[in-house]
Amino acid sequence: MQASCQCGAVQFKTPTPEPLDLYHCHCIECRKQSSSAFGTSAIFPAFPLPDNLPLSCYTRKTDSGGLLDCYFCTICGARVLHSRQGKKTVSVKGGCLEGLDWSKAKHIWCSRAVVKIPEGVQRWDEEPDD
Ligand SMILES: [Zn+2]
Ligand SMILES: [Zn+2]
Repeated sequence: MQASCQCGAVQFKTPTPEPLDLYHCHCIECRKQSSSAFGTSAIFPAFPLPDNLPLSCYTRKTDSGGLLDCYFCTICGARVLHSRQGKKTVSVKGGCLEGLDWSKAKHIWCSRAVVKIPEGVQRWDEEPDD
């Protein structure tokens, strides 16, 4: 899939034509990260980002004690991709993707949600075990 930031300076292609999974996350970190009610993560097999892009990386500790690399456009500031060091998958921020099928999104950290979770969706109060 084609991905781009808000200003268009960051452009890349995902390694598969569809995400392996899609989550709306209602946790407080995602709320802060997106400056909005929740964050959307499209999970893809890990892939290298092109190295000529105007990207910067903010690294933070996760609850499980690991490190999360959070890439954002240095021009418009849009967050585009998160990769957990040592993991085989990455999370592309959903709003960056063109042609994403939003209908199959699962809702996680619903215990923290500030918006109503739609009827009939797959949902977890916290995270699914994986
Ligand atoms: Zn940008
Ligand atoms: Zn979250």
